[in-house]
Amino acid sequence: MLKKPFVAANWKMHKNPQEATEFFNDFLSKISIEQMENFAFFPPTIDLSVTSEKLKKTRIYWGAQNIYTETQGAFTGETSAEVVKSLGANMCLVGHSERRSLFGEDDDQVSKKVNLIQQLDMTPMICIGESLVQRKSGKTFDVVEVQLIKALKDLDSKKEFIIAYEPVWAIGTGQVATPEMAEEVHLFIREKLSGLFGKAITEKTLILYGGSVKPENAAELYKQKNIDGFLVGGASLKVDAFLQIYRALF
Ligand code: PEP
Repeated sequence: MLKKPFVAANWKMHKNPQEATEFFNDFLSKISIEQMENFAFFPPTIDLSVTSEKLKKTRIYWGAQNIYTETQGAFTGETSAEVVKSLGANMCLVGHSERRSLFGEDDDQVSKKVNLIQQLDMTPMICIGESLVQRKSGKTFDVVEVQLIKALKDLDSKKEFIIAYEPVWAIGTGQVATPEMAEEVHLFIREKLSGLFGKAITEKTLILYGGSVKPENAAELYKQKNIDGFLVGGASLKVDAFLQIYRALF
């Protein structure tokens, strides 16, 4: 079962296989077996083989940053969820705002990917969040609700899933949401999940915050009732910064 605090690393398009290997060697030497279940890694696709070598036999969660909606065929440049699964992955990121804004991923594709990831017995970590324009025009809750409902359209709620609330204006900008701003959206998401799937499922579903999380701001955010952990980009690239985020939560 997934447990709090949960801290996930999105390496985006950083690190070659050698650098990934060195990271994991260092990281694994600094955490205990019990702590492993609190972490997930989403390395670039090209690093999934070495990630498999390093993490397959640990309790750490890991998988791809993105998979395609089909499992095989003439889809040049895409990554098959089946292949990711065959390496031993147990979790995949889906709907990251960079996928949505830079590569035109829409809610329909996100929903198909969520479904496929679950069919392959991996856990989807589903990213949702509003842009700055949407927040400034008072549309945050509408945007988050629509993204959430559409992403979960065909969800198998008997299987685990994770929601990552990532306000787009906070990703990679150094501009973190205040704990209160994040908490009101997390609470909103929790209530929506409750309406969709009932209280029991909602209580065990992790809702992570993402957007410029650093060792300095993690503890204050984590004090909020509905923030169960973090999805971390930039600060996950260095072992010590990433571990400092985790350690700040105790
Ligand atoms: C992310 O990539 O999901 C993210 C939250 O990035 P950063 O921590 O760099 O803002």
